Amino acid sequence: MAKVTIIGASGHVGRYTALAVSYIPYVDEIVLYGREGSEEVLHGLACDLHDSFAARGTTLEVSFSTTPKDITGSDIVILTSGVPRRDGQDRMDLAHANARLVAQMAAMVGWYAPECLFLIVTNPVDVMTAVALKYSGMKPNQVFGLGTHLDSMRLKWNIAHFFGVHVSEVHTRIIGEHGDSMVPLWSATTIGGISIQNLPRFEHLPEERIMRNVKTAGTHIIRRIGATVYGPGDAISTIVRTVLGNENRILTVSAQISSEIEGVADVCIGVPAKLNRAGVFPVAITIDDKEVGEFTASADKIRGITKEVLDRLSEEGC
Ligand code: NAP
Repeated sequence: MAKVTIIGASGHVGRYTALAVSYIPYVDEIVLYGREGSEEVLHGLACDLHDSFAARGTTLEVSFSTTPKDITGSDIVILTSGVPRRDGQDRMDLAHANARLVAQMAAMVGWYAPECLFLIVTNPVDVMTAVALKYSGMKPNQVFGLGTHLDSMRLKWNIAHFFGVHVSEVHTRIIGEHGDSMVPLWSATTIGGISIQNLPRFEHLPEERIMRNVKTAGTHIIRRIGATVYGPGDAISTIVRTVLGNENRILTVSAQISSEIEGVADVCIGVPAKLNRAGVFPVAITIDDKEVGEFTASADKIRGITKEVLDRLSEEGC
């Protein structure tokens, strides 16, 4: 059984994530963690979750804390604290604002729960994963980000809808930045085990429109309801279930790569990775030439911003 800590549990994503992970059969303890001053909110959330467990007839333990030592013993720590995007903002606008917070939280996690797996949700998630990796002092296979997992699920849904098949028949993924330069892997997309490019309707697939929908999905939701909640929360929960169940599924998360995809290296970015109790392991793949060009450009972009953010943190003495 496992202890899951959610840092930033008072926020939109954090609070729904707490509910979503409570449905995972391997979880028996959830810690709602927040900054000092958020105790009342965290306490209220813990009571509400207790009621949910009572209504479901489950016996999970849920507690709240603003004290770092309470994260000790966590099997997985999920970082959802941070300034969210506002309507009209790019995820990259948040980079400097969130980097200091992530560095501080990562140092705390590395000190109090050095054996845990550390899942980063805070945006821009690829850059923040690199910040967390550096400041936690943990190993690359322990620290990873939500990456393009949710984007991949959005693409999967769009393809299933176009072909009129159940989503479970579609296997696809988006790699690269969780943002504008993300790269759909049509070369790795199958329906019912058949390469999508071999299906007659593929030539009518509105690829550009679908990718525009995927890229702007978050913006449209934020414009209407102020935050994305259920999508990220359930995407996080899938990852947590995969890890804690030692399932060895391949999901597309942000991880530090060292040449697994066409020689691209030294950046934390969305890639297919095997996930299990030991952590995250990027999978070596080959992709077609167009995809290589786009992925390389995406990696260059993220590597550049990551360097800028890490340099600024060092200058500030973090
Ligand atoms: P939110 O509702 O505003 O919640 C923000 C959380 O961060 C709250 O718990 C807040 O604590 C905490 N926080 C803010 N500033 C802090 C600080 N300086 N020190 C400590 N804690 C601080 O935001 P959200 O919608 O949940 O989004 C949270 C993050 O997740 C954002 O960066 C967002 O962009 C990102 N996100 C990523 C994805 C993805 O796919 N990667 C998807 C959705 C969201 P208080 O309650 O005490 O203020």
